[in-house]
Amino acid sequence: MLAEFFQVLGEKPYCVKQIMQWIYKYHEFDFDKMLNLSKKLRQQLNDIACIDFPKVFKQDCALDGVIKWVIDVGDNNFIETVYIPEKDRGTLCISSQVGCSLACTFCSTGVQGFNRNLSTAEIIAQVMIAKQYLTDKDKRISNVVFMGMGEPLLNEKSVYVACDLLLDDLAFGLSRRKVTISTSGVVPALLRMADRTPVSLAISLHAPDDVLRDELVPINQKYPIQELLSACQNYLAAGTQERHILFEYVMLEGVNDSVAQAKKLAILLKGLSAKVNLIPFNPFPETQYQTSKKVTIASFQDVLFDNGIRTMTRRTRGEEVDAACGQLAGKVVDKTKRTQT
Ligand code: SAH
Ligand code: SF4
Repeated sequence: MLAEFFQVLGEKPYCVKQIMQWIYKYHEFDFDKMLNLSKKLRQQLNDIACIDFPKVFKQDCALDGVIKWVIDVGDNNFIETVYIPEKDRGTLCISSQVGCSLACTFCSTGVQGFNRNLSTAEIIAQVMIAKQYLTDKDKRISNVVFMGMGEPLLNEKSVYVACDLLLDDLAFGLSRRKVTISTSGVVPALLRMADRTPVSLAISLHAPDDVLRDELVPINQKYPIQELLSACQNYLAAGTQERHILFEYVMLEGVNDSVAQAKKLAILLKGLSAKVNLIPFNPFPETQYQTSKKVTIASFQDVLFDNGIRTMTRRTRGEEVDAACGQLAGKVVDKTKRTQT
């Protein structure tokens, strides 16, 4: 895109490299200060272009170091971005849509409804806003995960271009393993993703059979588990480098957390290059679900371990600022009107 822009202006391709470095590496947004560009080009850019960011509406810091930004993307729509610091890394959880149309029953974003897709600029702005704040505090972003609001595979084009920038050495320069797209299983898009971008994949599975998954993750009615798993096989086989998949499984008391269900899950995942992430359910006001007890989660995890499946339980972070998984609701003008029926 930038290449075309500069070509139209009659500039050489290296201008793209220069301007990307100014913006992404040096966070310089004033064309007049980009001193290695010609004076003529700087003037031209001032006349026809600007570098602008959506406004931060609110920033909350939790005691455990988690930071949540609520970002105003216009027309009374707000998205959320969360930074989660750990000993050896800092993960930024970004949004791909304003709300989500997939209506998973345990997810606050899903309950809110859907308004629109985010542009690549709005996706990348989340990283820029966080990076600017964190750099001043001597903290860094080592990983970026599309686990905020929205279903990234229903906004493919913008998400893939954003991934390109996240991996580009002239922009954020992250390795493909440190960028993750999380999806609830949009199978046709997942088949395309396998060839389009080398980033990591997380699948929100949450149930070991179709009857229960149809209820918890309604898109399963369209793309049932076996179809999803064969798209996963396709992803694992594509690309030139070794790939793995992270399966996310939210622990809902008395719903999907029994030992029998753990055994079923182990059978499903046998032979796949997979890791399982058990996520204690994070409650939100409108929900009927409860978080599984610690001992139930431990027994579930033991079954998976015994079957040779690498499993970890995610620690809940940022609760007091409603920044934990599935608590991101922003403020969405619901275009599906689902929330009003
Ligand atoms: N739409 C994508 C990415 C955003 S959701 C997806 O579904 O994968 C990011 C993760 O948070 C998903 O694994 C999702 O299932 C999980 N999640 C949603 N609501 C949750 C809740 N209330 N508690 C814990 N995890 C939740
Ligand atoms: Fe959408 Fe993911 Fe929430 Fe499901 S879990 S409603 S796909 S954001």
